Amino acid sequence: MTRSPEQIAADCESIYYDLEFKPARDWKAAEPGRKVVGFVPVFCPREVISAAGALAMSIVGAGDWLEVIRGDAYYQSYLCHIPRSIVELAVSNRLDFVDGMLFPSTCDVIRNLSGMWQMLKPGSFVRYVDVPQNYEPEIGGRFWEGELRILAAEIGKLTGVAVTDDSLRESIRIWNENRAAVDEMYLLRRDRPDLAPTSEVYVVLRAGNVMDPASHTKLIREYIATARTSKRAAVDSSRVVIVGAFCEQPPLALIKTIERSGCFIVDDDFLLVSRWYTAPVAETGDPFKALANAFVKHTIPTAVMYSPKTGRGGALIERVKTARAEGVIFAAPSFCTPALLDQPMLVDGLEKAGIPYTAFKYAENTGQFQPIREQTGTFADTMKLWSAV
Ligand code: SF4
Repeated sequence: MTRSPEQIAADCESIYYDLEFKPARDWKAAEPGRKVVGFVPVFCPREVISAAGALAMSIVGAGDWLEVIRGDAYYQSYLCHIPRSIVELAVSNRLDFVDGMLFPSTCDVIRNLSGMWQMLKPGSFVRYVDVPQNYEPEIGGRFWEGELRILAAEIGKLTGVAVTDDSLRESIRIWNENRAAVDEMYLLRRDRPDLAPTSEVYVVLRAGNVMDPASHTKLIREYIATARTSKRAAVDSSRVVIVGAFCEQPPLALIKTIERSGCFIVDDDFLLVSRWYTAPVAETGDPFKALANAFVKHTIPTAVMYSPKTGRGGALIERVKTARAEGVIFAAPSFCTPALLDQPMLVDGLEKAGIPYTAFKYAENTGQFQPIREQTGTFADTMKLWSAV
């Protein structure tokens, strides 16, 4: 039966709200011995996890539908919300089916969460993944290749499935296909945000957090096919790029609020791991070298990575131009050091380029959207009335 884009989005929305992570549990239960390896934002080498036969499950917090009680006891109050809700998920046993956890070097909070996990789940497989901040192939590339080989050996030991060059190449191929589908969905949203609104695109993308990549690719392709031919009323909204929401995710209701206030979100940095490489990873030759090479040459610009070429503002201005956006909305999680430290440099670039912007902060459990609706609605009107961009 063909599903409409609204039906697909509604199904994905149930996955979004499911804090028991049923699709991942089902995947694990489908064959004896299967393992699930979880990871937190922003980046993780999912190809290596898949090549070891495990499900790479992205854990991005619990949003606004899990009351954080014990999680608060682990962190001071002046910190973002995501580590508290991830701890709450752990202490409430919702992640007990996860066999291992990877914590990338996103920021101090995530790094410390890896230590916290070792205390919470003694004896479980926990790794801090230190990604390179040097983009010279001979320095950062070599370092990352070595790290990937170590990680592959360790995850292979956990799953009992050794990562071989062939299995890693096959995994790279599968993830390349997934990223190609994601890119196509983003292109459709950029060109026809009236047919593929972000509130739908986001939940379709997010469903991939708990699905195997091949099934997720199929889901995205189904959404693209049906959204492209759907009949929807034309809307005259302002085109905006969202920046800063790469780690702790904004509530879905916040995304809908921004859209309802008169904005088409035509580019964003949500769930960045799903679009991490700006070019396909090589599917031939040494697969570890291919992944290392992709990391140092084709990583998407973000606040948690060093940007040697375009500086902080250049990459954003490029994105604004490519998306034919009229303005930028800085939407950063409260207390998010990387996003908020980046913002002044990005603002400086936008001001020099004459690109309008507005800014607010949120938490994944923000529940009051009216002030944001008024702010983004005024911003959208202002751009339509007076912007020269
Ligand atoms: S929201 Fe920001 S500060 Fe908090 S864990 Fe993520 S990157 Fe770090």
